[in-house]
Amino acid sequence: MARQEETRIDGRGDGKVLFIPNMEPYCVKLMAAVFKPLGYQTHVLQEDDKALALGFKHTGGGECIPCPTTVGAMLKAMAEMRVTPDRAILFMPTACGPCRFGQYVKLDRMIFEKKGWGAVQIMSPSAENAYEGLPTSARIRLWHAMLLGDVFRKLACRVRPYEITAGETDAVVEKYMNAVAELFGKNAPLAHIKETLAEAVAAVGKIARREEKRPLVGIVGEIFVRSDPYINGDLIRRIEELGGEAWLAPFAEWIFYTMRVRSLLVEQSGGFLKKVAEKARSWLEKNLVFEKVEREYYDLAAPLLSQRREYPVEEVIAAGEKYSPWQFEGEAIITLGRAELFVKRDGAKAIVNASPMFCMPGTITSSIFPALEKELDAPILNNFYDGSGDPNKSLAPVMHFLCNAG
Ligand code: SF4
Repeated sequence: MARQEETRIDGRGDGKVLFIPNMEPYCVKLMAAVFKPLGYQTHVLQEDDKALALGFKHTGGGECIPCPTTVGAMLKAMAEMRVTPDRAILFMPTACGPCRFGQYVKLDRMIFEKKGWGAVQIMSPSAENAYEGLPTSARIRLWHAMLLGDVFRKLACRVRPYEITAGETDAVVEKYMNAVAELFGKNAPLAHIKETLAEAVAAVGKIARREEKRPLVGIVGEIFVRSDPYINGDLIRRIEELGGEAWLAPFAEWIFYTMRVRSLLVEQSGGFLKKVAEKARSWLEKNLVFEKVEREYYDLAAPLLSQRREYPVEEVIAAGEKYSPWQFEGEAIITLGRAELFVKRDGAKAIVNASPMFCMPGTITSSIFPALEKELDAPILNNFYDGSGDPNKSLAPVMHFLCNAG
């Protein structure tokens, strides 16, 4: 069989099943709904020990944990749902950079072919072209969905640690997430979605809370592991159980970062006209779509999230550049920069740097963080995850100290 084109994206689902890795539950739930009006049956992949074991069985053992986690969940779901390869599409973004992420798609393809499932397609938008290829309207709605996922997660993180009735925050957030997902699934006007978010903010704001001061813990690191509760041992809730409040670096950060790097590359080596064109493109993109939408949602959520707004990615890169040049592309610079801003700007009392075992940016950042820890005078935990053990055990003494520090 001829090798499938991994970057095939045509925006028409034709009733095929689009399997989406559950790398960040809030964002992915809403992003999956965006694909429904395009004719896809979407299925968010569920991760568990069985799926991970299946992933390990089909990989070599040296891959970063997101790879076996996602491919194992895909193989398990296809078998359980009895989806034939010709009806299955895996959503797996890619990138060309100084780490292994760009190889996942190729390895996934080899695994499918080895199983005789070569007809499985892979939808693989790339950071290289800022995810062009998807229809523009879908890309815009995916951006809305991603931002909304970040906002819903932040609402939960802001209120759940203080709720008087256990489970109330999750129930309210889930109710409104479901409503927003339904609106995306019906291709409803974005104005309806904004109204629903405003209602959600009001409802979450009414949840009865304890007056309590908790240490803020910033979570940075590799985007999959820091965001995926299955593989990171439910890091956010673990921080909450130990008396803290968590702020996870947002999912949308990677999109802002890739857009900014594209501009920086042109600024560095493009000709005069190219530079002017890039400046105009980036200004329009930011001010008419990306930052504009972000501002609108954070304004709506301001009653609860005024202290949880994001900073422009330029600030994150500038902070990180003290430790790693921007020309060394990848997550290291934003992990370092955001950690500094979390502590200096937002008053975080500790940082968790969450990475897959042997992650290249994670290894770099964990070697720089000891110096930063001294400079910031805040503990920084470098937790590496590979699907085994309990790396979050390291939190207990730090949280005990922070919660009991006068
Ligand atoms: S960022 Fe880390 S985990 Fe992700 S592909 Fe690169 S090396 Fe692997």
